Amino acid sequence: MKLLFKLFLFVSFSIQAFDVRVLLDQFSVADGQKSEFVLSSESGVFVSGIENKINGKLSIICTDKNILINGVPVDNEWIQVSPSLSTHHEKKIHEFIAHWLKTEHAFRKEEMLKLTNFYEKFVNDRNFRDYEQLYTVLQTCINLCISSFIESVEHPVMSCKSLVEVAQSQLTSQLKNLLTNTINEKNVSGSLLKQLQKNEKIRIDFFDKVLDQVLLQFLTTYFLQLPHKVIYQAIKEHPCCLHFNKNKYVGIFYILRQGNEVLLINSLDIDDYLLSVVFSEGWPGWPMEVNKALVIANRTYLVEKILQTNKTKRPYHIVNTIKHQTYKGHHKFIALKKAVDETRNVFIAYQGKPIVAMFDSCCGGVIPSKIEGFDGKKHPYLARVKPCTYCKKKWIYNWKKEFSKLEITEILRKDHPHLHNIKDIKVAEYDNAGLVKRVLVVTSHEKMYISGKKMYSLFSSVKSFCYSIKKKGKGYVFQGRGFGHHMGLCQWGSLGMVEDNWNYEKILQFYYPNTEFMQLSLSR
Ligand SMILES: [Zn+2]
Repeated sequence: MKLLFKLFLFVSFSIQAFDVRVLLDQFSVADGQKSEFVLSSESGVFVSGIENKINGKLSIICTDKNILINGVPVDNEWIQVSPSLSTHHEKKIHEFIAHWLKTEHAFRKEEMLKLTNFYEKFVNDRNFRDYEQLYTVLQTCINLCISSFIESVEHPVMSCKSLVEVAQSQLTSQLKNLLTNTINEKNVSGSLLKQLQKNEKIRIDFFDKVLDQVLLQFLTTYFLQLPHKVIYQAIKEHPCCLHFNKNKYVGIFYILRQGNEVLLINSLDIDDYLLSVVFSEGWPGWPMEVNKALVIANRTYLVEKILQTNKTKRPYHIVNTIKHQTYKGHHKFIALKKAVDETRNVFIAYQGKPIVAMFDSCCGGVIPSKIEGFDGKKHPYLARVKPCTYCKKKWIYNWKKEFSKLEITEILRKDHPHLHNIKDIKVAEYDNAGLVKRVLVVTSHEKMYISGKKMYSLFSSVKSFCYSIKKKGKGYVFQGRGFGHHMGLCQWGSLGMVEDNWNYEKILQFYYPNTEFMQLSLSR
């Protein structure tokens, strides 16, 4: 079983970038209206369309005509707001890059070997005097270096493709200048050329120097756009955050106008997003295996959303609310990072595609395949036939709430404003899974049915779809099982399983039957 799982991990699935765009808020700017919000960062911010760094707060006013940032109109379609690094961070990053350059990374040795082999070929062909050719050789090697570098860091903050494009266009001109200078300086056509042809050490030193200079120039010029992980490693203890609505966010923000709406989107590394989501959606103090199972479900849900988005023109992948997954930005619960790191890129697939990995707090023992209206053909991996018994002993399994007639009337009036004088309320129909299909409300002048879904959305203290309604004194008692929609992974059940020594692989295979694990990778 274990071996099979490991094998599945080698099956990979590509997406275009390891970053996610989360919709944080949407502001209406219909005719004559204006919307206003504030963004800030302790270290200051850079705004596309405004040249200088801005310290303090950004006041953003969106009207139906334009967007004003601290009073300055900005015309870009996508306005990018990124936190600037503090001097402390910049120092750390320089240290990191210096260290990185000093360390003999495997790919550099490898590329150096390629470079030497290319060079040998040119020497043998006696074409070395043509420095244009040397330039081509070097450029090929540098491009290979850049690609290997990007692969080695795994998490580019910008898409891999654009990073390579930036790197290559910059390198072309940088390399030309650098080579011209080096060759002029060192008089390559004369004595050095002879030395280079004869002496392997001088040759390697020469290439090493050129390569180092190009890389150093590239890294120092573009370190702000370098893959997120490089920056992340340098600043992981004190990330640069953007503040919005009392929450802190890593990554960058986009302000985007779409018709009469202005969207605020947070773009960040998938792992940072998951670290945040597992905190809001899960139970941070729980055993690691439960959190790992939840992270994989969260990642799978996200990947599925990313693929859906790619089929549309929607500028974001996922929303930050319970509608998709609750995302509240940066938190300091470092222990959860282990759950993200140790399951990196793993997601759940059915027939080679990410599943819609639904989860709830407690399933209440309901068997999902029996739920009416659920399409088991469309989502076979949610059609579990075995009941979950692992949440049964947990406090959350049972719930009870008493309502007076007046309270019930007030709640139902949100949907039926004229409702009054309730005579009786009871469950009229259950489905095969035991979920409430319809509730009958009898008043002095009418009888009406309210769907189970509607009841769930109206009554915030009705925690699930599985309950009974009984008369008690002048009011009613709602008594039920479970917390949530009864589909997919049951969080409290997972906890029970871990207490019985289950691991996250086994948990996920129970809740999502007939699925396999796959590995996320970048498409190139
Ligand atoms: Zn359960």
